[in-house]
Amino acid sequence: KSGYGKDGIFRSLRPPLRLPKDENTDMVSFMFRDSSSYAHRLALADADSGEKLSFREFKDKVSLVGSGLSQLGIRKGDVVLLFSPNSIYFPLCFFGIVSIGAVATTVNPLYTAMEVAKQVRDSKPKLIITVPELWNKVEGLNLPAVVIGGDGCHKRLPTSPFISFSEVLTMGAQKNPPDVIIKQTDTAALFYSSGTTGINKGVVLNHRNFVAAALMMTSDQELKGERHLTFLCLLPMFHIYGLGFGAYGQLQRGNAVVSMGKFTFVRMLEVIQEYKITHLPLVPPIVIAVAKENIVARYDLSSLKKVMSGAAPLGKDIMEECAKRIPQAAVTQGYGLTESCGIATITFPKERNSHFGSAGTLVPGLEAKIVNLETGRSLPPNQSGEVWLRGPNIMTGYFNNPNATKMTLDKEGWLHTGDMGYFDDEGGLFIVDRIKELIKYKGFQVPPAELEGLLLTHPQIVDAGVIPLPDLNAGEVPIAYVVRTPGSSLTEKDVMAYVAKQVAPFKRLHRINFVDSIPKSSSGKILRRELIAKTKSKL
Ligand code: AMP
Repeated sequence: KSGYGKDGIFRSLRPPLRLPKDENTDMVSFMFRDSSSYAHRLALADADSGEKLSFREFKDKVSLVGSGLSQLGIRKGDVVLLFSPNSIYFPLCFFGIVSIGAVATTVNPLYTAMEVAKQVRDSKPKLIITVPELWNKVEGLNLPAVVIGGDGCHKRLPTSPFISFSEVLTMGAQKNPPDVIIKQTDTAALFYSSGTTGINKGVVLNHRNFVAAALMMTSDQELKGERHLTFLCLLPMFHIYGLGFGAYGQLQRGNAVVSMGKFTFVRMLEVIQEYKITHLPLVPPIVIAVAKENIVARYDLSSLKKVMSGAAPLGKDIMEECAKRIPQAAVTQGYGLTESCGIATITFPKERNSHFGSAGTLVPGLEAKIVNLETGRSLPPNQSGEVWLRGPNIMTGYFNNPNATKMTLDKEGWLHTGDMGYFDDEGGLFIVDRIKELIKYKGFQVPPAELEGLLLTHPQIVDAGVIPLPDLNAGEVPIAYVVRTPGSSLTEKDVMAYVAKQVAPFKRLHRINFVDSIPKSSSGKILRRELIAKTKSKL
């Protein structure tokens, strides 16, 4: 009943996954495989601008973008960087890029110019696609650019070595898209994640990863014969949860996706009511608000059938409270990583509200092991260990980083997640701890090594260690232990300001503890667990 086999492997309890057999099925043609039968239905709507696209219009526009980009010189394997908040243009650009075999890399719009430049140095894009509001963060990069925002943006921006998105569409209309053969093993995207250790790395996801993950995510819809649902995608599409789950997974199933770029809680409630949203993927802080904010009662949320939470842990109590607020909807939880193309477990339809606190059961086609880190042995149900995953959705590795790849993906294809958890007797996964360095602020990744590196660039800081501090609202916030140079009068405020001006707001430090030394192992690794224990003892 738990899916646990004699070989120490947990397998999915769902019907098997059916992947397309043809090796040349790219993720975009796969997305449109049945769309002629629902060509006039709504595919995408933009909650901010009110724009709408049917599946036919969506398919035609993706093809125009692909053809336009190829006329700009983009070829198979070239990287294109997409730097934009959510809008209907985001998926148009993303799928346009990958439809011609090019590789999309996405960047958080909250990033500073310095953080964007870092990703540019690593991923080496040939072209940047962005919006006028973010132009000032990329204009210094000296890269060809496309700006979304109509022809008028030429006048609004101070310098204009770019072309507008509408010009790309016009160019696209003059020629057919190039005839490229795309294999499922070809790279489609580089999403950035710090993984279990160190700084951000490009997670290489190929066309097969996306197709497999999409079928895994929607396997319960297939089981129940559900189609043409309406999803609200307020999760940022630069992250795999937004793009892979919120957009691609749903669009390939014929569901409508309403994108929302400017998030406020009230606007979210209005949009649910306005568009009769049926499915609402969220992150824990927003689920908490749904459970607790009185304003929820003022809106008609009767269209909602499912509220889903992912990207960070969500406790049993909040799931229960949220379910009471929206009694007709199932409140579910999923677990996944960028490295697993956004999916691993999800609440099984039959478990409806009975498994609160669990992150769900394994999706079809995915295997898992719970491994005791001391003995290396795999553990049976109800015993905690590191969660390992293997299946067709697992990344092929980190971009240009064989060492980091070797540390995370073993020879047998198991992804070592850096999360601790156990499966119960019914195959429900419970994540109990995170042993990797990563800090998650409202579901956003904050890599401690990146902040430590930045702290060390300050002339009056000789050593630093960054760890998470539990926080009711954000889940976790980053705090630092800092060793100053002798005689330095550097204050907590100085250190916080030094970091704040160089990083995205969600990476800002919330507290500084000055100490004489940072605990390290004999090999020089920061013993963050010791710092965490020290912090806990003082709380
Ligand atoms: P990311 O690559 O940004 O999606 O981050 C993946 C990490 O988020 C996982 O390795 C977990 O540490 C955490 N995570 C995602 N979903 C959950 C969940 N339902 N419960 C606990 N942690 C989660």
